[in-house]
Amino acid sequence: MKLPPFEYACPSTLSEAVALLASHHGEAKPLAGGQSLVPMLAFRVASPSLLVDLRKLSELRQIRITDDSVTLGAMVRWREILDDARLRTAHPLLVVAVEHVAHYQIRNRGTVGGSIAHADPAAELPGIVVTCEAKIDVVGKAGTRTIDAADFFRGPLITALEPDEIITEVRLPAWSARRRFGFQEFARRRGDFAMAAAALFYDENNGNAYNAHVGVTGVADWPLRLTAVEGVLDGATINEATIARAEAAATAAVDPPDDIHASGAYRKALVGVMVERALKSAAV
Ligand SMILES: Cc1cc2nc3c(=O)[nH]c(=O)nc-3n(C[C@H](O)[C@H](O)[C@H](O)COP(=O)(O)OP(=O)(O)OC[C@H]3O[C@@H](n4cnc5c(N)ncnc54)[C@H](O)[C@@H]3O)c2cc1C
Repeated sequence: MKLPPFEYACPSTLSEAVALLASHHGEAKPLAGGQSLVPMLAFRVASPSLLVDLRKLSELRQIRITDDSVTLGAMVRWREILDDARLRTAHPLLVVAVEHVAHYQIRNRGTVGGSIAHADPAAELPGIVVTCEAKIDVVGKAGTRTIDAADFFRGPLITALEPDEIITEVRLPAWSARRRFGFQEFARRRGDFAMAAAALFYDENNGNAYNAHVGVTGVADWPLRLTAVEGVLDGATINEATIARAEAAATAAVDPPDDIHASGAYRKALVGVMVERALKSAAV
């Protein structure tokens, strides 16, 4: 289908981009990689009067790694994450999750900010930012603010962003060198959105886990943190019995609806299996 008519602007500065969004009173949208927005235009799910292309804003393309955090600019593409060798040690969970995003053509264009703002409940990066307690920095006509990932996702394709706000960067807390982690995803075909996925990590002290973080996607209107599973893991030795208890806790913690792809009961069981497999891969 042809796209609906819209105006197009390609500002050179962030403040110009914000001013353009603000002047259109909710009728304008930022354009990043276009990999979700353009299909939405084609399907008439969105029909903004103005697209504000962010591609000239080079300050949004940085990946910074410090002792405190891994910071991804909003216009960093999936391919750039996968190609940055530093991230394989600075944030291996992020890299493994991004390997599951879509197909290479889409990974060449799709961006961090676009994925977070699009807020697909089955997308990988929203799951990672919730699991890792990331901070999301945004700028709008009222100035800058930081939103905790836990407060950012409000529903399928709904976020805490105001219409004039642009995500500038996403900050993931620094990763500790000997941390154990796992990421497991089940999709019908490689590159499809997840039917369910689990991301988790924990640290170890004298053979026991602590600081467990467990998140799942594809089973609710937004990514979920499974604190009940974290409670099973914290203080425990990660062995077959603990993993079985974690699997049961994960299954009990979610209540996915039926949809055209699977019944809720299937997805509920799938979440348990994803957590089980992620824990087994973390423990080896
Ligand atoms: C066939 C196909 C398969 C896919 N499979 C997957 C998958 O398995 N996993 C996955 O995670 N994704 C998948 N995607 C989506 C893909 O990863 C997109 O790239 C991503 O969701 C959106 O990023 P984008 O840069 O293309 O954003 P765009 O499409 O340009 O924008 C998406 C939305 O975000 C807003 N936006 C963009 N940037 C900003 C910003 N900085 N601040 C505020 N708002 C902003 C736009 O206004 C729009 O509402 C798939 C897409 C396709 C077409």
